[in-house]
Amino acid sequence: MTALREVEKSLDAAWLAFRAEAGVDGLDDDLAKVVLQDPSEFDWRVVDAALTKLRCDDCGNDLGAGPVGCHACDQANGFRFAARETDRPNVPPGNEHAIRVASAVARTRDRYSPRARCGYEVSLPYLLAGGLPTTAQAQALKAIINTLSEEELETVVLPEELIR
Ligand SMILES: [Zn+2]
Repeated sequence: MTALREVEKSLDAAWLAFRAEAGVDGLDDDLAKVVLQDPSEFDWRVVDAALTKLRCDDCGNDLGAGPVGCHACDQANGFRFAARETDRPNVPPGNEHAIRVASAVARTRDRYSPRARCGYEVSLPYLLAGGLPTTAQAQALKAIINTLSEEELETVVLPEELIR
C-alpha cells in the first residue's frame, strides 16, 4: 500500500531528524527506550519509530506490534497514543490525529479484525492528502464496510470506492 509506505518513510525521517537533533551517538535502542519512558514529550512519528527499534521480550515482534493479548505489546500500543500530534499546515484540525490512528492500525493490522481495520486502511491516502471525513461521511463509510464480505474487505483499498 503506497500510503502506508509514505507513513513508514515519514517515521524513518522523523527518527533520523530526532536523533541528529538529540546529538546522540549511541544505539538506536537506547534512544528509543528514552523516548518511550515519556511519549508525551515527543511527536508521535518519533514515538512510533522508537517502537520499531525495540523488540518485545515476550512475543519477539516489534514492540507494540505483537498479537492482542501480549501484555507488553498491548501496553506499548496504548502508550504510543500519549505522544504529541501537530497538524501540518493547511489541513483541517484533527487531520494529524486521524493519520496517526489510521496508520497505527494499518501498521499493526493483525491486531484488528478485517472489518475493524478496513475503514482506517482505506481512509489513509485521503488523510495523507489533507482530507478529514465529516462525521456523516465516516458513518456512511462504516455502513458500507459493514456490507462487505471478508474478501472484499481485503481488496477494497481505494478511498474513492468508499467515500462518495
Ligand atoms: Zn509482544
